Amino acid sequence: MQLLETTGLEAFYGDFQALFGLEISVGEGETVAMIGANGAGKSTFLQALAGLNDQKKGAIRFAGQDVTRLRADLVSRLGIGLVPEGRMMFPSLTVEENLLMGLCTDRKGPWTLKKVYELFPELLEIRTRSSVRISGGQQQMVAIGRALLTNPKLLLCDEISLGLAPKVTNGIYACFSEIKATGMAILLVEQDIVRAIKAADRFYCLLEGKISLGGNPRDYGIEEISRSYFGIG
Ligand code: ATP
Repeated sequence: MQLLETTGLEAFYGDFQALFGLEISVGEGETVAMIGANGAGKSTFLQALAGLNDQKKGAIRFAGQDVTRLRADLVSRLGIGLVPEGRMMFPSLTVEENLLMGLCTDRKGPWTLKKVYELFPELLEIRTRSSVRISGGQQQMVAIGRALLTNPKLLLCDEISLGLAPKVTNGIYACFSEIKATGMAILLVEQDIVRAIKAADRFYCLLEGKISLGGNPRDYGIEEISRSYFGIG
């Protein structure tokens, strides 16, 4: 049985249809990448999974339950954690207070504040600093740490590399092997094709709200994936 499965998933903004009949699955402990250009519908897809978009059709099953119509807080309590695009710091809170917001689901699991500080040691040094007075890379670490503290079964990551220097992004991507080692499944949404398919066991390419390619990245050449990404040929 898959951990996450969508059937015929569609999403709308009023009359505008952003997603068309998506059939996506993520297995227990699997890392899956969804790649796509600007406006392909990646964030819309993650928001639909996280219960943040109620204009949708089709079905979303998670851990054997139908979660299609569930509110975001209930989805989070069931074990779907979101690292949102733009990191979404609580600006009046410190680094540590932002992290602690992740504990509000009361889910038990391997992730504690201590373990998050072991994963990102530089956050320990700046824990009392305002979350808006730190670098973009540090904010991304806070956003990941906050989601990990909800002890999700599935971690959704929206464009982690966006606006970060390649060296900083490399450091953040390196932490995924440690997260994966705890048995957590990860769904990475990315514009950066190379980085995403390197990290993933499986990938989907999203083009104008539809899946244009998918499978094991090792079975495809980068040219074929790129053509599908840009809708060429
Ligand atoms: P990006 O990488 O730029 O974040 P994306 O792949 O995440 O792109 P979405 O943000 O999901 O794409 O957008 C998918 C489509 O839905 C786009 O055509 C976008 O213009 C449209 N869209 C997104 N949010 C809204 C909204 N709030 N109202 C109307 N249309 C929207």
